[in-house]
Amino acid sequence: ILNFCANNYLGLSSHPEVVQAGIDALKTHGAGLSSVRFICGTQDLHKNLEQKLAEFHEREDCILYASCFDANAGLFEVLLGPDDAVLSDELNHASIIDGIRLCRAKRLRYKHMDLKDLEEKLREAQSSRMRLVVTDGVFSMDGDVAPLRGICDLAEQYGAMVFIDECHATGFLGPRGRGTDELLGVMDRVQIVNSTLGKALGGAAGGYTVGPKPLIDLLRQRSRPYLFSNALPPPVVGCATRAVELLLASNEIAQSMTAKTMRFRNKMTQAGFTISGSSHPICPVMLGDARLASLMADDMLKHGIYVIGFSYPVVPKGKARIRVQISAAHTDSDIDRCLDAFIQTGRKHGVIS
Ligand code: PLP
Repeated sequence: ILNFCANNYLGLSSHPEVVQAGIDALKTHGAGLSSVRFICGTQDLHKNLEQKLAEFHEREDCILYASCFDANAGLFEVLLGPDDAVLSDELNHASIIDGIRLCRAKRLRYKHMDLKDLEEKLREAQSSRMRLVVTDGVFSMDGDVAPLRGICDLAEQYGAMVFIDECHATGFLGPRGRGTDELLGVMDRVQIVNSTLGKALGGAAGGYTVGPKPLIDLLRQRSRPYLFSNALPPPVVGCATRAVELLLASNEIAQSMTAKTMRFRNKMTQAGFTISGSSHPICPVMLGDARLASLMADDMLKHGIYVIGFSYPVVPKGKARIRVQISAAHTDSDIDRCLDAFIQTGRKHGVIS
């Protein structure tokens, strides 16, 4: 069975060098630290990975968390007080929504990727001491990319900072895989980036914030999920470090994923399917009806293709889909097998003729 529903965009979770780095770290540094970072949970491995991630994102410093959920839960409360305002895309990830709930800033939700609405909300927030615009770089249900250039223009015009969650972009979006900010040419205009080690960067676990050094210093002193939760285990850190090193050395893996994504998207469109988004490896095959998405996913499994149907409340009513995720680990013939299965099941269910 071929897996087409993992966030393993670059196939690094089974890369021999990544796996070996985990084994090596287990042997040299042990299974775990039995401690949070600031007591006795910081090893050379953690500092080294933080430095490599800062380098990768071209930011001053980095702080690791047990997950990106934690990174999102731990940021806003530290940064923003009751005199500040946070402007958040209505479709941001649940962990951002929860993180924002924990802070006491004025909350303004703008319509999904709607710059006009964002501008209105920025005007509304002008009396606040500080403004932070918060968006996913890529939204995982549709694979749509936030209009970061317009967001940065508005942020500069209205004196706001910009935060992006790059879980579905780090490692493969942009000419060197640095993310949505690189893709859209705004790496020097986005102040704070959160991302995960649990998707393209080896797929194990872990999250982080990169940004200005004073912010990272402050997070180390005050961020609750960092202060009160165990350090990442050495094997997890070892795997992620090797993944980042591979990506710092070459963009070949990301390019191969992009080529495979375009192969799938083009052939599916030619076959008559509607694929949402434009070039992201998240390829939502739009079906509309929830039951149809579920039945088709079951049939795909009978053809040896593992995909999942998404329906309300995960996506809006009437927008059920099968979310296919392309990985560098797929071969061209894997992609074609997936395509054949879609054509057969799509015909059976009357989705295509
Ligand atoms: N942010 C986004 C956009 C995500 O898709 C996810 C994972 O589903 C997270 C944050 C949480 O990441 P993690 O699994 O590292 O907690």
